[in-house]
Amino acid sequence: MHFPFEIFSPEEQIQNPRFLKNGISIFMKRDDKIHPFISGNKWRKLKHQLEHAKSQNITNLVTFGGAWSNHLLATAAAAAQFGFNAIAYVRGEEIRNPVLDMCRLYGMELIFVDRESYKNKHDLFLLNHNSENDYFIDEGGKSELGLLGCSEIINELKNEYDHIFVASGTGTTVAGIQLGIQQKKLKTTVNSIPVLKGADHLLDEFSNWEIDTQKIKMHLDYHCSGYAKTTPELISFIQQFIESTGIMIEPTYTGKLMYAVFDLLEKDYFKPNSKILVIHTGGLTGLLGHLDKFNR
Ligand SMILES: *Cc1c(COP(=O)(O)O)cnc(C)c1O
Repeated sequence: MHFPFEIFSPEEQIQNPRFLKNGISIFMKRDDKIHPFISGNKWRKLKHQLEHAKSQNITNLVTFGGAWSNHLLATAAAAAQFGFNAIAYVRGEEIRNPVLDMCRLYGMELIFVDRESYKNKHDLFLLNHNSENDYFIDEGGKSELGLLGCSEIINELKNEYDHIFVASGTGTTVAGIQLGIQQKKLKTTVNSIPVLKGADHLLDEFSNWEIDTQKIKMHLDYHCSGYAKTTPELISFIQQFIESTGIMIEPTYTGKLMYAVFDLLEKDYFKPNSKILVIHTGGLTGLLGHLDKFNR
């Protein structure tokens, strides 16, 4: 089954004096342009799962996330567009914010659960749903089908790169990109910027899915003390990046990613004339939770 959804995600060179050094060129794959809310990697991770659900005539999507989850909003929007019902278990006490309000606007039912019960998502699913009518989609869209969707980024590329960089939460996107690189036998080094603290073993479980995780270069020092945490330096970098490129990024994922690439460039990590691709994974609604930190 093919969704009537043609994606637009160009590869654009970043023309910014701060990113010009030693003949190095930096391109950005604009997955943020796929859709305002089914954004970036979340569409790639959902695509084959929704096709699978449709093929089994399952109409209810059941998924999981935190209160600012880009995945919840993407699932809510995709469910509305492609004729599914969506139910989400939201971690923590009941609150309101713009992301959850938009999820509701798309018709998603939200069920708030305490952090302890949230930990066992499969139990929540098995106790409250049945697999004939309800389709389980893990937090962040993590799954083998999601990984497959992310590997397709590589088929779309028009240039060959020395490095590809992506921000990582669950690691599904970076593992999928590595799979795509392996399948096409490219020499590109895949780089992950984990946005969580202590992500040393983030990719271990993906090695069961025939991903050569050893080949992925992890840069573990750009989480800024943890998930959704920021530093004044990060905030001011993001501000400068946005106003000098016209490309919107946010502090939770793409801001940390671009900050890392810029820092590595400053530290002469890259060989002269390297060609680098960064993946803009979207998720710009995350900015709404951080706007008070920007002082312009
Ligand atoms: C969810 C998300 C990620 C993390 O993707 P994983 O596949 O979980 O590693 C990166 N960037 C953005 C903008 C996201 O919303």
